[in-house]
Amino acid sequence: MTEYEAIIGLETHIQLNTETKIFCGCKADSWDDAPNTNICPVCSGLPGSLPAPNRAVVEKAVRLAHAMNADIQTESYFDRKNYFYPDLPKGYQITQYDKSIARGGHMDVPMPDGSTRRVGIHKLHMEEDAGKTRNEKGRRLIDFNRCGVPLIEMVTGPDIRSADEAAEYLIRLRQLLRWLDISEADMEKAHLRADANVSIRVKGETVFNTKTEIKNVNSIEGVRAAVEKEIARQIQAYESGEKIEAWTLDWDENTQTLRKMRSKETEADYRYFKEPDLLAVHLDEEWLSGLLADFPELPLARRLRFIEQYGLPEYDANILTSERSLSDYFEAAVAAYGGDAKRVSNWMMNDVLKLLNERGLEAGALKLTAEGLADIIKLVDANTVNTPTGKSLIEKAHDSGKTPQEIVESEGLAQVSDDSAIRDIARQVIAANPDNVEKYRGGKDSLIGWFVGQVMRESGGKADPNMTRAVLEELLKG
Ligand SMILES: [Zn+2]
Repeated sequence: MTEYEAIIGLETHIQLNTETKIFCGCKADSWDDAPNTNICPVCSGLPGSLPAPNRAVVEKAVRLAHAMNADIQTESYFDRKNYFYPDLPKGYQITQYDKSIARGGHMDVPMPDGSTRRVGIHKLHMEEDAGKTRNEKGRRLIDFNRCGVPLIEMVTGPDIRSADEAAEYLIRLRQLLRWLDISEADMEKAHLRADANVSIRVKGETVFNTKTEIKNVNSIEGVRAAVEKEIARQIQAYESGEKIEAWTLDWDENTQTLRKMRSKETEADYRYFKEPDLLAVHLDEEWLSGLLADFPELPLARRLRFIEQYGLPEYDANILTSERSLSDYFEAAVAAYGGDAKRVSNWMMNDVLKLLNERGLEAGALKLTAEGLADIIKLVDANTVNTPTGKSLIEKAHDSGKTPQEIVESEGLAQVSDDSAIRDIARQVIAANPDNVEKYRGGKDSLIGWFVGQVMRESGGKADPNMTRAVLEELLKG
């Protein structure tokens, strides 16, 4: 059987989380606004209005380019891409064409099987978004709110080899964009849009066959599904001797199907020329080195360091570096605890993340400090509180803003490790449950857990569970 491989390149449009749009003072984020309420003469293309570039857009583009190991250009230009569409009031989009802010670059993407795929970056540039059109009751409606929203367009080389690899690349890109505070990268809100170029070839060949382009996919799982479908379609077409044409395909999330849209324009159709209303973007060397001076450690590097430095399993390291404030919190807690980092990781993964997920928070918003978490683990280590009480302190400290020690004192949560106190409660429980005592003595050993539970309950959750079990085993022998 012939083996095939897929050749995939991804074109992503990243909406930047700047305060304002790229060439005017309108807010960049108008997701919740009524249509056509967040516009001005510049972004709606009224004659006589002039664009002025937003410095924050340039900064974010430079930071992303640096993270992508790209070559930052100290001089770049904006161009006009001319086309007619109702959501583009100016009749052209301001973008960067042949002299963009960065060239080249790559991202090393870890794959679930442990391998790494180096994905080359072919192009990275700044541009403005267009508006939106939608059909409603037989009418075509246009919303210009999104006109002028700042975007970075980033195009990979043809380096991705499967639908899963495409999904992994997007997962890592989204993580990076949030880590560097470049974009909220919420695909449902179109902050991160991905088009995929897909072709196939017989494995081992080096030719590039005709590719198709998949558009309008608004989730990472959607990209995975759409690319998988298209690879299968092309293989089938190839095997039945059909010619694969350079179609543009539209992904329908509801039916999970691809539909042919239109044949693709060629670049010449856009009649690009240098934007006459804007000067060159000149990056001052001093400004540039200041901007990149204390560049943060990136998530994939931190993930590797967590494995090496703290001896964490890959699984833990992956989750703890999924978000920047979470990884900062972990490191601060390990430093404050001073003991086994894996023990801190277990508390983070099981209990801290549970609270964060329940409340929809990031670690940065926790009122329990990293030092406070270390204190809780120490209280459990020292048998001052038992493990269930320790776990409950996480939520209590977050809700009250008090330190774990304060809560233990004010609520009297210190563990009862007094043998005679536990013995008294155990005797009462045994006396009150003669049936279960009989069953236990008759060989139903598993009932010991039930007895421990009863004593724990009677003690208000404060009894030392290990001591309780030992006392019960002794008394139940009879
Ligand atoms: Zn505007």
